[in-house]
Amino acid sequence: MPQSDQAHALYPGSFDVLTLGHLDVLRRAARMFPKVTIAVAHNPSKSVSLFTVDERLDMLRECTADFANVQVDHFAGLTVDFARRIRANVILRGLRAISDFEYELQMAMMNESLDPDVYTVFMAPAPKFSFLSSSLVKEIAHFGGDVTEYVPAPVAARVRARMEAAK
Ligand code: ADP
Repeated sequence: MPQSDQAHALYPGSFDVLTLGHLDVLRRAARMFPKVTIAVAHNPSKSVSLFTVDERLDMLRECTADFANVQVDHFAGLTVDFARRIRANVILRGLRAISDFEYELQMAMMNESLDPDVYTVFMAPAPKFSFLSSSLVKEIAHFGGDVTEYVPAPVAARVRARMEAAK
C-alpha cells in the first residue's frame, strides 16, 4: 500500500439517484485523499433504474464540478479490476447504519480476497444524511413527494422532469 499522499480512492456505486448523502461522503473523501474517482457501476442485477448510466454520469459531472481532485467514471465488471485499471488503491463505501454493515463488510472481505492490495475504507455521512437512500428518494418522487431536500438541485430538477414525463 503506497503512502497516503499517493492514495487514490475509488467510490463505486449505482448512484441512481445521487443523494446529498453520497455527496457528503464524496466531499469528506475529497478532503482526505489526493485523488478520488466516483464511478457508476453497470449493475445487471439492478435492472430497474430511474436514470440511464449516461444520465447519472451527466448529473455526477454537474454536481462534482467544484471538486478539483474528483473524477467521474463508469465501469462494468469487478470493482477490484476497475480499481486496478485506474490505479486506485482504496475502495470507498458509505456506511449509514447497522443495516448496511453486513452487506458492506461481506463485499469488503470478498474484494480483499480478490485483491489484497486494494483496501476498503468506510465513511459515515453527517448524521442528517444517515437516513437517506436512493430507493427512498425514488419512492417519494414516484408518489409525487418533493425531493429537493434530499438531492442536489440538478438532480431534483431531473427527477421532477422524469416524473412529469411519466404522468
Ligand atoms: P450500490 O448499489 O453500490 O449500493 P448506491 O448508489 O446505493 O450503490 O450507494 C453507493 C455507496 O454509497 C454505498 O456504499 C452506500 O452504502 C453509500 N450510501 C448510500 N446512501 C448513503 C448516505 N445517505 N450516506 C452515506 N453513504 C451512502
